[in-house]
Amino acid sequence: MTHSDNGFFNEYGGKYVAEVLRRPLDELEVAFKEALADPSFLQELNTIQRDYIGRETPLLYAETATKLLGGAQIYIKLEGLANTGAHKINNAIGQCLLAKRMGKKRIIAETGAGQHGVATAAACAKLGLDCTVYMGEVDVRRQQPNVSTMEMYGAKVHAVTSGSRTLKDAVNEAMRDWAANPDTTHYCLGSALGPAPFPDIVREFQSVIGREVEKQAKERSLDVAAMIACCGGGSNSIGFFSPFIDKKEPRLIAVEAGGTGPGVGQNASRMTGNASREGIMQGYKSRFLLDEDGQSLPTSSISAGLDYCGIGPQLAALGNSGRIEFTSALDKEALEAVMFFAKNEGVLFAMESAHAGAEAIKLAPTLPKDKAIIVNMSGRGDKDIFITCPVFRPEEWKKFLASELERLNENKDIHQAKIMN
Ligand SMILES: *Cc1c(COP(=O)(O)O)cnc(C)c1O
Repeated sequence: MTHSDNGFFNEYGGKYVAEVLRRPLDELEVAFKEALADPSFLQELNTIQRDYIGRETPLLYAETATKLLGGAQIYIKLEGLANTGAHKINNAIGQCLLAKRMGKKRIIAETGAGQHGVATAAACAKLGLDCTVYMGEVDVRRQQPNVSTMEMYGAKVHAVTSGSRTLKDAVNEAMRDWAANPDTTHYCLGSALGPAPFPDIVREFQSVIGREVEKQAKERSLDVAAMIACCGGGSNSIGFFSPFIDKKEPRLIAVEAGGTGPGVGQNASRMTGNASREGIMQGYKSRFLLDEDGQSLPTSSISAGLDYCGIGPQLAALGNSGRIEFTSALDKEALEAVMFFAKNEGVLFAMESAHAGAEAIKLAPTLPKDKAIIVNMSGRGDKDIFITCPVFRPEEWKKFLASELERLNENKDIHQAKIMN
């Protein structure tokens, strides 16, 4: 099941949208298929992946970690070295190139924590496209660093005030905008979910991760027992796994956010959690965290990127079929994994990616030394200083923030100076 059959991955997927969105989705599907069959599009994509994103990203042998854990060799795919710090740029650049080819001049995107918004804003700046990012008002308030970064890239950030004023509402607003402006505008959706053809498009543009890993593992003659990726909507994991889906090996392991525990509202475990249910939301059928009336439940995770009640239909279907094994890591385990790989490998995992790191720490000692495990570090942890620093050094961090505030107030002139255009 490497791609959908008429928009469906076995029991999940589909295109559950209002009539006005059918035509833009159908047009997108046709344009996507044509682009993939056009060598000049693939050449252009390849060049920008190399020169702008910085591909290919390295596959690092985690030698000290391997020795300390005493089992299988651990390798880390350093996707966090991609421009903008995570895998999301692969999808943003791919979709923006596709939009340009379709003659669209305006890009809209939804964002929760702001990471997909940043990637899309950067891609639009690079490709000369107009960019509007929909973001819940609550998220705008708590993710100011990413809002500022998007604006530096020239994007307009539109604060959404409907509903719970978070990611779900931002998606609805973006859909509404697209339905009103389908001829000028492309909706750049950020993960491997939503109505068809988005799950296929996002997987395709992220599959560059998996193709590189396949080549890199072959070059080193690795005997790969397992591949591990964290799973929010599922874009980094499905891209990383994609060349191996139709093979029996290696084991493919997706790690969901275990949050603070198994209780409802404490995690974002759509496949392994207590409140996992089938449903249809935001244009696709899949597994969600829902209450008995089919309403989405609140989720919780230390990593903003995994904190979502839905999961991509292809992942959910491959989870049901058993090809992808699902597990989860607690907030605490993810933090410990960040520390472990930082200290022993000089590699700082993003909180999301650290969920995959945590699973590697559990799995490696159970496997023989001649086997390899490959972990996808979907992003780097620089963005997480507001989470990690207060945990590791709470008092010093509070003092630092207070002194920053003081400095801001004192140096009014510098901070209010006009920025030259
Ligand atoms: C957004 C994000 C994720 C989760 O999204 P997926 O679509 O599941 O990949 C994981 N890691 C990082 C670094 C992210 O920014």
